[in-house]
Amino acid sequence: KLDFHPAGRHFLQIPGPSPVPDRILRAMSYPTIDHRGPEFGALGLKVLEGIKTIFKTTQPVVIYPASGTGAWEAALCNTLSPGDAVLMYETGHFATLWKKMAENLWLKPEFLGLPGIEGWRRGVQAEMIEARLKGDTAHAIKAVCVVHNETSTGVTSDIAAVRRAIDAARHPALLIVDTISGLASADYRHDEWGVDVTVSGSQKGLMLPPGISFNAVSKKALEASRTAKLPRAFWGWSEIIEMNKQGYWPYTPNTNLLYGLSESLDMILEEGLENVFARHQRLAAACRVAVTAWGLEIQCADPAVYSPVLTGVIMPEGVDADAVRKLIYEHFDMSLGTGLGKVKGRMFRIGHLGECNDLTLMATLSGCEMGLQLAGVKLAGSGVAAAMDYLVKHVAKPKLKV
Ligand code: PLP
Repeated sequence: KLDFHPAGRHFLQIPGPSPVPDRILRAMSYPTIDHRGPEFGALGLKVLEGIKTIFKTTQPVVIYPASGTGAWEAALCNTLSPGDAVLMYETGHFATLWKKMAENLWLKPEFLGLPGIEGWRRGVQAEMIEARLKGDTAHAIKAVCVVHNETSTGVTSDIAAVRRAIDAARHPALLIVDTISGLASADYRHDEWGVDVTVSGSQKGLMLPPGISFNAVSKKALEASRTAKLPRAFWGWSEIIEMNKQGYWPYTPNTNLLYGLSESLDMILEEGLENVFARHQRLAAACRVAVTAWGLEIQCADPAVYSPVLTGVIMPEGVDADAVRKLIYEHFDMSLGTGLGKVKGRMFRIGHLGECNDLTLMATLSGCEMGLQLAGVKLAGSGVAAAMDYLVKHVAKPKLKV
């Protein structure tokens, strides 16, 4: 009997936290400095300005020393009042958790969505939002909340279409969007899409460890925050935005994660944001080619909204997805995302975000294919061979240095 002992690097292929590049780990190892000193102010100004490019906004982006859940709460408590009606949309597990949070904050969320599991396989249906808002002639609904990249399913919704739906209904509700797992991997345009608050986090496309999160804030959202009545202290925007003008925070910020953010911004902008998006699209397409070659089904049922960040793989009837994941973990030292909520045990998720390239994807798919074979899942063919073929036929052009 050969005992398996992990050697080499662990493959962290969950859809966040994503692997943290060595360059970022090194940057975060610098000594922690005085968060009221001049050196810190320069760092603060750099990351506060740089992060706007990633959100595609010229408006303030608030950075919290918190996970994404904190930034969810910040978006709601800064803009809304107890008892406010909010229209939320069920795309999957994270949309469901956000709705629960809204209830806990004494808001009155209404959950739109397609029935049953169908809603977890397709993006936000903007026409449903438009119809509901048209019916709200008294403008009782104060905000529309949607998840851009639903991490539990691998579906990326069309936020521009949601904006058009709100405008077509001539409704004044705020548009609040969670792109915790979409930012810096999937195209996102805070200003152009007329989003009022965008929520994001550090541990996905930004390639950082968990621990900082963001609210990008429109003028309309700032205006709403002046009269909104939900209690807020730590999350309150106004004092933070005021102190951010000099590069500082009202409390002790997460200094070493901000070093990491500074490095992450450099890396993303060196590659070019549009190149980052194209890389993710190409790797995601290759991953889907593999799943299809295996003869397995992709969780996202609408090709128009396939996620460039992750792919959900549905197991054949009678196969426990978590047992397959466990096998892969134990034999190949690779972590894949579990099925969450309604799809627990039915599917697993392959993350292909942040620091990823052709070879990390191929290694990941090899681990999946070997694990599926070990689990006795009948495969139609080799996904690895199909993905390699796809990548060669769609080879990324080397950037010419002049
Ligand atoms: N929203 C989405 C879409 C997510 O993917 C996550 C985490 O994976 C969250 C919210 C919650 O963020 P966090 O776990 O950082 O609090």
